Amino acid sequence: MAEEKRDYYEVLGVDKNADDNTIKKAYRQLAKKYHPDMNPGDKEAEKKFKEASEAYAVLSDPDKRKQYDQFGHAAFDGSGGGAGGFDFSGMDFSDMFGDIFGDFFGGGSSRRTSNAPMKGQNVRASVRIKFEEAAFGCEKELELVLKDECTTCHGTGAKPGTSKETCSKCGGKGKIVMSQQSFFGTVQNVTTCPDCQGTGQVIRERCPDCHGSGYIARKKKISVNIPAGIDNGQSIRIREKGEPGLNGGPRGDLLVEVRVAPHAIFQRNEYDVYSTAPISFAQAALGGEVMIDTLDGKVVYEVKPGTQTDTKIRLRGKGIPSLRNKNTRGDQYVTLVVQVPTSLSSSAKEALRKFDEETGRTLKPGGTTVKEEKGKKRGFMDKLKDTIDEL
Ligand SMILES: [Zn+2]
Ligand SMILES: [Zn+2]
Repeated sequence: MAEEKRDYYEVLGVDKNADDNTIKKAYRQLAKKYHPDMNPGDKEAEKKFKEASEAYAVLSDPDKRKQYDQFGHAAFDGSGGGAGGFDFSGMDFSDMFGDIFGDFFGGGSSRRTSNAPMKGQNVRASVRIKFEEAAFGCEKELELVLKDECTTCHGTGAKPGTSKETCSKCGGKGKIVMSQQSFFGTVQNVTTCPDCQGTGQVIRERCPDCHGSGYIARKKKISVNIPAGIDNGQSIRIREKGEPGLNGGPRGDLLVEVRVAPHAIFQRNEYDVYSTAPISFAQAALGGEVMIDTLDGKVVYEVKPGTQTDTKIRLRGKGIPSLRNKNTRGDQYVTLVVQVPTSLSSSAKEALRKFDEETGRTLKPGGTTVKEEKGKKRGFMDKLKDTIDEL
């Protein structure tokens, strides 16, 4: 080996126990600093960028990181008898790069290189669905305005019969290098060519159909499969349904954010569902069957005699299916709330007064009235009290 490889943790400047987020952040910073676009022609920066990308490729992958922690570089170079070789040369860093930076370097007016194929921009959309649709999954149709290649000019933007010409301002490079004197010597600033917007080519005669853009925008219907278990705010990535690519590059992706409408009965936390269910005073006191609403419809639950208000019960497996495996479901937690009747018939009132006399006379506490009444009717508690006094 020509050169001793640096430790991956050292390359990223992170601790051996650093979590994924810290590693990602460290890499993001280095990649921004040393990215070839930011340092055109700087071989040292390019080397540093590759070194950091390699370190990140390993440390961001739990399996590879484990191998590296155990065997060091020998885990991947194939010569140290580690767990099989790992070849970085064929690795597509740009894909990983897209993941970590999103649209940072992509599209817009700051095009990277003049003629290289480039992925199109991502398109963002959102869809509103019901609570149950999020729980069990659904299919939705979105109507979006998307660009397609202009069929008249086949995406060149030039009038048929004419063609693009090399930009004279930048000589087809798409970039202009300006030198400035500063305290530190000559500083080179690279900017995108304003005449060709970085494409290196200019159109002399525009295509009449797309006015030189090369694209035509059309309304399109796209059906989106929303998986069971999705939560409010999560996005679905539909590959290559975004803006068209440049110079034969693939289309960007469509990112659909899911907005879940609140439910009248159910609330959600992760994969668990929370709800409250009313029970009558008689059910609470005597026990019995009550009907409880779940995502699967009503279920019968046996309430124990003497159940207090705000008692929490768990219905196993009545929660939301997991995104990874829809056969695994969360639980439903139900708070039983004892209802106090608000409108009573006179006979029901009478029954309640009788009940009160039997159970402690809370309606006529202390005082003379209790003594006066004592002669006529004796409640259960009075009899109990006499018994205790006798003992
Ligand atoms: Zn056209
Ligand atoms: Zn130019």
